[in-house]
Amino acid sequence: MDILLVEDEPQLAAHVVRAIKRAGHGVDHAADGPSAVETAMKRHHDLMVLDVNLPGFDGFEVLARLRAAGLPMRVLMLTARSEVGDRVAGLKAGADDYLTKPFALEELLARIEALGRRNPHAEPGNVLHVGDLCLDISKRRLTRAGERIELSPRELEVLQIFMQEPGRTFSRDEICERIWEREHEYDTRTVEIFIMRLRKKIDRKGAPSIITTVRGIGYHLELPG
Ligand code: CA
Repeated sequence: MDILLVEDEPQLAAHVVRAIKRAGHGVDHAADGPSAVETAMKRHHDLMVLDVNLPGFDGFEVLARLRAAGLPMRVLMLTARSEVGDRVAGLKAGADDYLTKPFALEELLARIEALGRRNPHAEPGNVLHVGDLCLDISKRRLTRAGERIELSPRELEVLQIFMQEPGRTFSRDEICERIWEREHEYDTRTVEIFIMRLRKKIDRKGAPSIITTVRGIGYHLELPG
């Protein structure tokens, strides 16, 4: 994998760069917001490990610019434990995962591997159709009524769960387990944020959401027609 590490603490950055290299991945390093965006635009990376507090502009702004530019790389945010809102804010801004500081290097590497794992359902020609939604899993491409909708990799995976069994109700716990494979500390709030992100991108203004909340149980996909 090619990884872009964005971290302004020199010692921590050097530590992480070494660990990532030892794990057999390529790594670039940026130490502030503007150079993070510049490096991401210049070279392909599969994954970005992104600190929140950075010189220039912060990790949220980096993330917003990447997503606005349609860069599909996965983003793992490094958030401070003291900043309770950072995790939620990071997920809302389009991160795929987060890790709270301070963290063990093994934990960071485990997260990197988990995020980099190939989508097991991404066989070529695997295209799902539900109503006017069309999801090409291998190309990671979603359209609604022919119009392209940009989703982050994790958003795509959550939507894919619903599209594989349209009409079936999934509990928050089940979605959590499928996406994050029971990796600790995930709570139902994380799922709620991803559902909110999907609704914001896919739903039509004024129309009922395609992802219906089933009170006390979870969610299911429901498209008109
Ligand atoms: Ca920092």
